Amino acid sequence: MSGSSGGTGAGSGGGAANLLPRTAGFLYAIVVVIALAILWYTGKINRKKAYIFLLISTGFGFLIFAPVAPHNFQQLLLRDVVSLGASLQAAAAGLILMLLISLVFGRIFCGHICPAGAIQELASLVALPKFGQNWKEISLGIRAVVFVIILAAAFGWSVGIIDYFGLQEFFSLDVTSVLFYVFLGVLLLSTVVYRPFCRFICPYGLLLSLTAAVSAFKFRRTEKCIECGCCERVCPTNEAKVGDLKSECYMCGRCVEVCPVEGALVYRRSSGRWSAAGIPDEEE
Ligand code: SF4
Ligand code: SF4
Ligand code: SF4
Repeated sequence: MSGSSGGTGAGSGGGAANLLPRTAGFLYAIVVVIALAILWYTGKINRKKAYIFLLISTGFGFLIFAPVAPHNFQQLLLRDVVSLGASLQAAAAGLILMLLISLVFGRIFCGHICPAGAIQELASLVALPKFGQNWKEISLGIRAVVFVIILAAAFGWSVGIIDYFGLQEFFSLDVTSVLFYVFLGVLLLSTVVYRPFCRFICPYGLLLSLTAAVSAFKFRRTEKCIECGCCERVCPTNEAKVGDLKSECYMCGRCVEVCPVEGALVYRRSSGRWSAAGIPDEEE
């Protein structure tokens, strides 16, 4: 399936018709990333309050198919201005801007704004046993291989691999397409494996994980930490240990929710100090 075919979903259609929803999705992403960064920093939001953003972002996915970043990233690789609804330069600038923002604030975009991630996060709330908490290295390795395949398919054969995951068909509720059921399958898998599409497939998420690894703001332990390990046990991506880079931290807030000591785990900028063990200082 070429990228320009784009499926029959909400993301297909003329470039002019796509311009308004894509712009609205982009503006929504910018405003909410900054708002959530402020809310996490000031402690005015928690995991459960953040559900409202998951619901709104998922609604944006169904209503305007934006800002579904993996789709946009692929269409940019395919130079498909019709599906992008914007010039290649504008689309590239938007994706690069979000990468720059994640350099400062981490993966708030993945955590609460990308509809493809938000709906997987909602699926993860289903009370079923979860697998794969310790698959961080495996998932990063698989996603790196998938990234290369996606690039090779796009540049070598003008094929959009991401199209086969059915994002457009799912969010446009195109139940007549088999691809609708592919992403539905991803969602069902999300009830037992945390965010499988984000962690194993998404090419843009791979880039965001690189920038988030060196982001200024992250969830960090303070001197109040009693090292009870509660945060480490609930983290679905094994990113809550001291020294973890948080490249795969989806800002879900589970760690903060279970921390028994107020102020022991906070969303803060790095102190810039490094411990004797050679890891960034977790304290302010
Ligand atoms: S990893 Fe990809 S699909 Fe998942 S939330 Fe981030 S951009 Fe969206
Ligand atoms: S539980 Fe893990 S993924 Fe969730 S916010 Fe904490 S460190 Fe990030
Ligand atoms: S849950 Fe809180 S107190 Fe316990 S190890 Fe994590 S940051 Fe420290």
